[in-house]
Amino acid sequence: MATSPRLDAKIPDGPLETKWTKYRSTVPLVNPANKRKLEVIVVGTGLAGASAAATLAELGYKVKAFCFQDSPRRAHSIAAQGGINAAKNYQNDGDSVYRLFYDTIKGGDFRAREANVYRLAEVSGNIIDQCVAQGVPFAREYGGLLSNRSFGGTQVQRTFYAAGQTGQQLLLGAYSALQRQVGAGTVKMYSRHEMLDVVIIDGKCRGIIARNLITGEIERHFGHAVLLASGGYGNVFYLSTNAMGSNVTAAWKAHKKGAFFGNPCFTQIHPTCIPVSGDHQSKLTLMSESLRNDGRIWVPKKKDDNRAPGDIPEDERDYYLERRYPAFGNLVPRDIASRAAKERCDAGYGVGASKLAVYLDYASAIERYGIAEANKNNIHNPSAEEIRQLGKAVVKEKYGNLFDMYKQITGEDPYEVPMRIYPAVHYTMGGLWVDYNLMTTVPGLYALGEANFSDHGANRLGASALMQGLADGYFVIPYTIGDYLSKEIRTPAISTDHEAFVETEKAVKERISNLLNIQGKTSPEHFHRQLGKIMWDKCGMARNREGLLSAIDEIRALRAEFWKDVRVMGGADEFNPELDKASRVADFLELGELMCIDALKREESCGGHFREEFQTEEGEALRDDENFAFVSAWEYKNESEWELHKEDLKFENIKIAQRSYK
Ligand SMILES: Cc1cc2nc3c(=O)[nH]c(=O)nc-3n(C[C@H](O)[C@H](O)[C@H](O)COP(=O)(O)OP(=O)(O)OC[C@H]3O[C@@H](n4cnc5c(N)ncnc54)[C@H](O)[C@@H]3O)c2cc1C
Repeated sequence: MATSPRLDAKIPDGPLETKWTKYRSTVPLVNPANKRKLEVIVVGTGLAGASAAATLAELGYKVKAFCFQDSPRRAHSIAAQGGINAAKNYQNDGDSVYRLFYDTIKGGDFRAREANVYRLAEVSGNIIDQCVAQGVPFAREYGGLLSNRSFGGTQVQRTFYAAGQTGQQLLLGAYSALQRQVGAGTVKMYSRHEMLDVVIIDGKCRGIIARNLITGEIERHFGHAVLLASGGYGNVFYLSTNAMGSNVTAAWKAHKKGAFFGNPCFTQIHPTCIPVSGDHQSKLTLMSESLRNDGRIWVPKKKDDNRAPGDIPEDERDYYLERRYPAFGNLVPRDIASRAAKERCDAGYGVGASKLAVYLDYASAIERYGIAEANKNNIHNPSAEEIRQLGKAVVKEKYGNLFDMYKQITGEDPYEVPMRIYPAVHYTMGGLWVDYNLMTTVPGLYALGEANFSDHGANRLGASALMQGLADGYFVIPYTIGDYLSKEIRTPAISTDHEAFVETEKAVKERISNLLNIQGKTSPEHFHRQLGKIMWDKCGMARNREGLLSAIDEIRALRAEFWKDVRVMGGADEFNPELDKASRVADFLELGELMCIDALKREESCGGHFREEFQTEEGEALRDDENFAFVSAWEYKNESEWELHKEDLKFENIKIAQRSYK
């Protein structure tokens, strides 16, 4: 298959192991005096954006950074719990850059670009050093060395963590670095600002239009380059583990201005979330994958078993992941664990009132740790209760805040009864298509972190999003942006009175007044919920042709209804969260359609994209490498009209094979 001529991934020549090293030594540079004249806009100050903004400013560029929250510290990244991967091999358990690369490509079901993933694995170790230097309090062993645990899809321990608050601690590190630059005057921070469009001049991205969310004022901002680090779009499903504010608007506006959208249908469903409890809910809660290190997942062997979990004897329990995947057990990748849970529940073995849940059980971990502690402390013949107390203390130390969270939400004590979990939407592997430089198909417009489609193929491995966001921001973009900006040193700052700014601003204002003028009867929230239901039912954990076709029709009808009947209270020139919401839902209503079209077009199953028509006899994803080993990159043409471009994926360093975790 030939790659579409519009998609030049700009992968450097040479062996995989030396591509990045050679690139870094040969990429054109911008001298310090010129850097001071070049302006860079960074949209998003989560881990990817904050790390990029801080690093580019440290290098000398003039940076403007934007976020819609009141502080960069509230980016969705703060929610990340479990950890961040790095190929440090501190455990001496056989890890290496190659193994992290291999695990990531295989975990993504062979739908990611080799060169990018290898670079990610290469720089992973630097991230840990950088964060430790910033004071990030990673967990340590008794002797002071950094501690590691395992995440899904690997057989080594390479995940660094700070209790169950890794994202928060990493974000505080990146935020400190950002604030240092704000203090130094090299970054100008615009919080409570929402980017509502990009400005294109002579084919290059030259700025953004943003709305001040407090006053409603529409602002024009120039940049020689614009970086979108605006996060993922999982909230298209309405219910997800994402922060409530996460949305697709920034990426979507860029898409409509020429940035191709890569693999939009690749969504990650996380296996360990607190199950949906009713129609009132607007948010789902993740129980970190780290819990699968020690927790065992099971359902009763008997259908419709209504006994309390403690009353079900060991031999009447089905530890189905350990049974089906003995080599990886409870630590199979997320797509596999999620599907396996769904399969058991669909077959009638689910637990809890809804029967859409499985158990995540810590009893044996508590006992195992308790015995080890008793031995360590020279306690001979400890009682079962002593063992339990000692074990509970160890579990509390490792996962205490997650257990507390579970108890607060469900009212059940997970030290005493197994947690009930079920899969939920968690992450989007799709995003803006970028080349090796992280540049989109619009020159001067970049995408970083979860906003790009980049490194995770059809399924992201746990603890790899933080790694990718920080790799992009601290270690990749500071080099790759030079390739573009070195050619921009003769471009003076463009006045925001330029016609393109005026026109784009006008279009943004018109759209806002259109939304306000409809004055219909239905809230934006209602449309969002409806869209989410269609997406979850027909483009969620399992998809099929018929369902996708009907989803496309339903979304089109819902969108038409939205533009006829949405009611947005308040005005344009004021703080108006309802308007913010309506504008984001309008974009989700377009994105949802593209996701279904992409899912329909990809007539294979891979990773999180499970087309029911394409599965092995054992119910595993059945890839079609001959016809679908490509990245779909969609070009926006018109409403409901896209052109598909394909980037052929070449596997020169890994033997492409049916994934097996048995
Ligand atoms: C509950 C949970 C737990 C997780 N745990 C882990 C984990 O343990 N390990 C791991 O590797 N990954 C984890 N992930 C995934 C990971 O947290 C995210 O993928 C990652 O933090 C995304 O970072 P980001 O910088 O790309 O985007 P975000 O952190 O989402 O930041 C987006 C930024 O863009 C801004 N923004 C967006 N749109 C606009 C706009 N239009 N205008 C202005 N600003 C805008 C926002 O204000 C924000 O600053 C978890 C995810 C969830 C949901």
